[in-house]
Amino acid sequence: MNKKPKVAIVKGEFPFSTSDIDAMVGRAVGLLGGLTKRIKKGDHVVIKPNLFAPYPPPVSVDRRVIASVVRLARQAGAERVTVIEGVSVGTLMKRVNPSLSAHGMVRGFSTIDVMGMLGVKKAVEEAGGEVVGVEDTKKVVVDIKGGKALHRVNYPKAVLDADYFINIPAMKTHTMTMVTLSIKNLQGLLDEKGRYFSHRDDLDQHMVDISKIRKPDLVILDGLIGMEGMGAGEGGSPVEMGIIMAGDDPVAVDAIASMCMGVDNPLVVGTTRIAAHDGLGIANPFLIEVIGNTVSEVRKKFQLPINFTQPIESIVTGVYPNIDLYIGGACPTCWLMTALMESALAKVPQRFSLIVGVDPKVPPKISTDLEHTFFLGECALSTGGDLREIRNEMQLKGIDRFLGGCPPYEQALVKIEEILIQMGYLKEEDLIKKAQEHKKKFFDYYRLQDSTWEPES
Ligand code: SF4
Repeated sequence: MNKKPKVAIVKGEFPFSTSDIDAMVGRAVGLLGGLTKRIKKGDHVVIKPNLFAPYPPPVSVDRRVIASVVRLARQAGAERVTVIEGVSVGTLMKRVNPSLSAHGMVRGFSTIDVMGMLGVKKAVEEAGGEVVGVEDTKKVVVDIKGGKALHRVNYPKAVLDADYFINIPAMKTHTMTMVTLSIKNLQGLLDEKGRYFSHRDDLDQHMVDISKIRKPDLVILDGLIGMEGMGAGEGGSPVEMGIIMAGDDPVAVDAIASMCMGVDNPLVVGTTRIAAHDGLGIANPFLIEVIGNTVSEVRKKFQLPINFTQPIESIVTGVYPNIDLYIGGACPTCWLMTALMESALAKVPQRFSLIVGVDPKVPPKISTDLEHTFFLGECALSTGGDLREIRNEMQLKGIDRFLGGCPPYEQALVKIEEILIQMGYLKEEDLIKKAQEHKKKFFDYYRLQDSTWEPES
């Protein structure tokens, strides 16, 4: 009979010092037998944390957890420890850089920018490791055996070649995958194009397929400060969990972690369910051995993203008085993107038409002029009939209100903001101010948690 996978949970008390965190990480790994039996002298260990955006926990993994794992790996005999990450596409392409706001609106942060700003680079180097951004590292083309949504990707060679691979996810909710834990965390290993275009309605399967390239040897989950609500970025709020988890089976870790977040049935999480189906691990909690603390000792009920608690229609159709929405034949990603586009347009005191999906039914004459008519997504941009006539007229008149792409993701959000700025409805200063507010929210919160933190501005 197969042995049950073990998942360790170690709970501590706030506030956490670096030595508290070292002790918790050490205990979680120790409950599984320790790293010295797993890492050989001279090994190259590669660590993939979740550094989602230029904000500290709960948006990104605590640098002290990463440094703690680097130290453990070195103590176990690793000759080289590399911390590799690729920040979210929103961070690469869309997030406004408030520290450069004196030079106008600057968008985007590289992974190395984020590692520097958050103090990850310093902490890792002091612990005896090195940091690498996925954008900057050598990648190789990999055919994914058993891939269903992803078949061929550019993948970091360092991860493929690693003697030992450790995944350090955060514990967060996510508007597209409900939660983001260890399986979702590997998305950051894809190149920029792969990261961008995996954000479709088959995102869960994409995430599972990445694990088929190189399954982590160990997961150490940073559950010190979790995130609830409209995660995984600015829309989320901290939940003080105070736990570190560890396990060899990423599916089992995700199943138990989601239960700690108050999800009663871990199989409702797509990445967990599909990963178990595809043979990557065990999701059935009755077949998992939880060691250390129990789920009931640490469980908190995280507020899930609104689109997982009520029908998506309730936040998209019939919501904004100034928006005439024509949506039909759209897949879930475009429904979610429509919600984001509408929230941008709703702030403007003008009437807009928004056209989304495959052949949505539009009246012979739409209610707005062409300047105030937006097309969202590749489907709306390629449907014939009446929609083509409207688009043709817009093109002849040089009116570009086409928010294309499949999915119409971060670039579409950037473009709508740029169009609203050109139209005079939005100011660059507003976006800079909003970015400064987001930064302040997370920086102020985390400073209270860790007085030793010295971020680069
Ligand atoms: S463009 Fe079409 S296929 Fe692509 S995400 Fe939107 S509705 Fe789905």
